[in-house]
Amino acid sequence: PSHHGWDGNGAAVVPTPMPKRLDGKVAIVTGGARGIGEAIVRLFVKHGARVVIADIDDAAGEALASALGPQVSFVRCDVSVEEDVRRAVDWALSRHGGRLDVYCNNAGVLGRQTRAAKSILSFDAGEFDRVLRVNALGAALGMKHAALAMVPRRAGSIVSVASVAGVLGGLGPHAYTASKHAIVGLTKNAACELGAHGIRVNCVSPFGVATPMLINAWRQGPRRRRRRRPRPRHHRAQRRGGGEDGGGGQGLATLKGPTLRPRDIAEAVLFLASDESRYISGHNLVVDGGVTTSRNLIG
Ligand code: NAD
Repeated sequence: PSHHGWDGNGAAVVPTPMPKRLDGKVAIVTGGARGIGEAIVRLFVKHGARVVIADIDDAAGEALASALGPQVSFVRCDVSVEEDVRRAVDWALSRHGGRLDVYCNNAGVLGRQTRAAKSILSFDAGEFDRVLRVNALGAALGMKHAALAMVPRRAGSIVSVASVAGVLGGLGPHAYTASKHAIVGLTKNAACELGAHGIRVNCVSPFGVATPMLINAWRQGPRRRRRRRPRPRHHRAQRRGGGEDGGGGQGLATLKGPTLRPRDIAEAVLFLASDESRYISGHNLVVDGGVTTSRNLIG
């Protein structure tokens, strides 16, 4: 791959090899076995990183790791269990010479999609707890153990995948919304504390990426599916073509579902993971094609 540049007079210069933005770095990606996490893993590898996939899906995680080569490994890790998170970090450190540069808190669950589960009048406390444990506690535990590994080297970048449901109401079940708001808050707090140690903490907030998570949610309710699908007019960042990662990359002219691809989220995560964002910390980077700037959010 190559990228084009321009000299000072506006003339095109000879393409140079695409710089590897994570060259030699070690990264852990939770929930990296599929969906957005898989796209992050693939992009990190493309940019020279050695990656540990930490996921509860052994079969998909191991298959992806072996498909991508020796620089990628899989460790079983339920992010809501502290011992698992500690083990994943220890695995990365022991495999890669005591080094951890990037920790990506991507694993997450949407929770039940029934009408009862979604109402504040009838939600189930056990289900609420389950979603908060994976999404919010999981992210906090990731920050904790990543930071413990990064502090001695006085460097590192922690990037969490929140959601536009972490910024706005009315976009998901209460537990999901609460958990994603929690990630945005944790990101700010941890950034305040860890800046002194040379560690940056940021998050990325996607909207509507056609991954198994969203597709399963649509399947649970056909009426809601129609209502919740982002429509073309909601996407201010218009794109044609795309779809290289599969899943929702249609051009707007043929739009039947979301236009965001897992790769679009991965690019934002890559930026925050890499040294190119070295002065950005405590930030929530919304990647939604402009949806949250619209008054008519859900059509
Ligand atoms: P997905 O369900 O397709 O993939 C999630 C991955 O996380 C799976 O590999 C799953 O096995 C893993 N996982 C689930 N629970 C885990 C646990 N306890 N410990 C470790 N791994 C676990 O979902 P996705 O759409 O790729 O979502 C990735 C992240 O992006 C999530 O945090 C999600 O909330 C967020 N997000 C997604 C969308 C979207 O539209 N798809 C929008 C906003 C935010």
